[in-house]
Amino acid sequence: MTNSARIRPPVVPGAMIGILGSGQLGRMLAMAAARLGIKSHIFAPDPGPAFDVAAAHTLAAYDDEAALAAFSDKVSVVTYEFENVPARAAEVLAEHCPVLPDWNALATSQDRLVEKQFVNALGIATAPFAPVDDSGSLARAVAQIGRPAILKTRRFGYDGKGQTMIRPGSDLAVDFRSVGGVSCILEGVVPFVRELSVVAARSVDGSFAAFDVCENEHEHHILSRTVVPAHLSDNAAQQAIEIVHRIMDALKYIGVITVELFLVEDIDANGAKTERILVNEIAPRVHNSGHWTIDGATTSQFEQHIRAICGWPLGSTHRYGRIEMRNLIGEDVNRWRDILGESGACLHLYGKHEARPGRKMGHVTRVLRDA
Ligand code: AMP
Repeated sequence: MTNSARIRPPVVPGAMIGILGSGQLGRMLAMAAARLGIKSHIFAPDPGPAFDVAAAHTLAAYDDEAALAAFSDKVSVVTYEFENVPARAAEVLAEHCPVLPDWNALATSQDRLVEKQFVNALGIATAPFAPVDDSGSLARAVAQIGRPAILKTRRFGYDGKGQTMIRPGSDLAVDFRSVGGVSCILEGVVPFVRELSVVAARSVDGSFAAFDVCENEHEHHILSRTVVPAHLSDNAAQQAIEIVHRIMDALKYIGVITVELFLVEDIDANGAKTERILVNEIAPRVHNSGHWTIDGATTSQFEQHIRAICGWPLGSTHRYGRIEMRNLIGEDVNRWRDILGESGACLHLYGKHEARPGRKMGHVTRVLRDA
């Protein structure tokens, strides 16, 4: 029996939830929880923006079992803003209280090979891929997939880290060493026209609610801009949401998930266009591409997640208009005063002190309301 299926006291306003991770996602989760009368206790190995807005925090390592046990004894349910939590930590927590989403969702998304095999087993397309464990298996994978291809570490990759492009003529032993010589997958390069994501929630009773499909632009592998609605046909948008629904049902998922997708357009000999959706990766949590929902939808992704893990009904995902969300990365944040002066711009700052290059310091959402 999974811990999510365990009978537990209902979570009511006034309760305390636990959040693993102290970053901006934890901060926005805690703020949404507070609006609903729920207190948050953050557990993290380093202080971060979530500490500033939470009722309590524990500063300890994810392998500190005594600290994990003491933390989980104080909260009604544990969730996370960060999916690379060690398996053992989830196991220790689950002995004390429910951990949502369930461990199997984390385990599936922590390993790119397991994740892609899981998605393909549901009959959902991904980039072609092959496992790589050494430079010999890399040579076999390149023979199968072709060049160029992308070599990605199976675990702990984010924002383009742990990836390298295998170009025609490159030295495979050097390529393999450049990602640390660890277990990898080799992926074929998808000729996508757009990158999309679907942020959706599933509740304890299996009900499902998705926000409208997001269209995402990256700079230096970091999300820079999200626009909603995405530019794709209604049919393809429906297909994208249906894919996410199937993934969530298969995982018996409770909470908010984000699935990053590629949109591919095929043009046949007669010039007719067909759209295909491929899954890139699954984030078992709230996501940067869903930040627009705070100002642009009836229920934010953060509130939706809190509702789901507390066993409450999901909220409406109604979108107020055409949306643009821009991340404020590094020095971009210095424009905060100008943005404050701009009518209709909704500014969010994460309270981080040092504006290092590549660091997400805040975001701004602009909603063009429907007339
Ligand atoms: P990931 O960490 O897997 O999300 O990859 C980061 C970014 O690299 C994606 O958002 C894409 O822009 C690009 N990318 C990743 N995998 C592929 C692929 N198989 N084909 C084309 N572009 C990719």
